[in-house]
Amino acid sequence: MTLHLPTLNFISIAMLAMSAGVMTLFGITGRRVYRGFWWWVAAQWLLALGLLLHAVYDGTPTVLPIANLLLLQWPIVVLTGMRRFYARHEWRVPPKADAMLLTLAYCVWLATWGAQGTAAASVGTFAGGSFALHMYGALLLTLLPDFRSSSALKALALTEWAAAAVQGLRVVQTLAGSAALLSFEEEMVAFGMVVVGTALVMVYLGLLLTCERTETNLRVTRRKLRFLANMDTLTRVPNRRHFHELAAKAITSIDPARAAVMMFDIDHFKMINDRVGHAVGDEALRQVGRCTRDTLRELDVAGRLGGDEFAVLLPNTSVSDAMAVAARIVAKLEHRQVAPRIAPLSLSFGVVQMRANERIGEALHRADQALYEAKRQGRSRAVVASGGEEEPVFGESRRLGLTTT
Ligand code: GH3
Ligand code: MG
Repeated sequence: MTLHLPTLNFISIAMLAMSAGVMTLFGITGRRVYRGFWWWVAAQWLLALGLLLHAVYDGTPTVLPIANLLLLQWPIVVLTGMRRFYARHEWRVPPKADAMLLTLAYCVWLATWGAQGTAAASVGTFAGGSFALHMYGALLLTLLPDFRSSSALKALALTEWAAAAVQGLRVVQTLAGSAALLSFEEEMVAFGMVVVGTALVMVYLGLLLTCERTETNLRVTRRKLRFLANMDTLTRVPNRRHFHELAAKAITSIDPARAAVMMFDIDHFKMINDRVGHAVGDEALRQVGRCTRDTLRELDVAGRLGGDEFAVLLPNTSVSDAMAVAARIVAKLEHRQVAPRIAPLSLSFGVVQMRANERIGEALHRADQALYEAKRQGRSRAVVASGGEEEPVFGESRRLGLTTT
């Protein structure tokens, strides 16, 4: 089969122009594109223009230098797009090196061509420069942290290697002279295939990387929204709704009769707000949250029920162990100062042992009765309640930390 090389050439140019057109349409029709995308589009358009100028080159002295510059730019302009797309990654080679390498490759070819030497020398230096630029582009791509996981980056590196192989072959051909390995026709077919491959890979890369980045951003946003919906951002413990969800889920996998529930609240918290302001009040709440988090085990569930009121579910814990947990939270708080001239915070606790088949809401209600009793007994203490909600029986009462009656 004999190939009509000009037709093959125009097919390659048309494919490139189509890939650039698809990417341009994608970018201008309101899709979210990221930094770097338009560099990839520009690289495609410029390459198509360079090939077109080559195809129509009629010996006009100014056309060839422009056409060859447009061909050489491709790996570097694509790389510039990559540098912008992956701006947060640490690039081991500075962008200056990209521009210097392109300038060097172009100037070497320009000098050889300008010296009016043999055509082989001119083709050889151009191919050598193009080989170096493609290898350089591929190498920097492989150093990207995302390279291993991204099929788009791998496809691009493969294209760069293929382009480098074709250009390397051309260098060998020019050096071999009459003992050339490939005919001119075969060389052009290989070149055309790389150009068509480039066109396809760039569309794939542009669209896939854009979609991947959008998906990553959506995942991060969804995680942030979930955090905001579930957590109390001031104290960084779950909010009331999420506490109930977590606690209800936790008691399905433990023996409720061996779990303790505590409810606690800051003593005379209103006074802090009134005397030194809400900002200090907020700091007090933050500290209670931190001390609670620092005291609890992984399997315990804590939450801010609202205002200065907190709740904790302690699986596999007796009420006396729960009292010890309360004492540890208070001990931690005593080492912290909310603001100058403000006494360390004191807390009051209500503690209950959960019952078999009891719901978390019912246990919390009983713990709230015990907390009320702790306040009644003078605050800064933990009180245990047993018995039903209708007739609670208050048992052990332990003083915790400093007195604030
Ligand atoms: P007691 O010893 O009986 O608990 O008295 P108290 O002054 O602590 O009274 P209470 O627990 O009822 O006070 C809760 C206060 O918490 C009322 C409200 O102004 C304040 N508060 C609620 N949410 C916040 C908040 O997010 N920040 C601040 N700074 N204050 C809050
Ligand atoms: Mg209070």
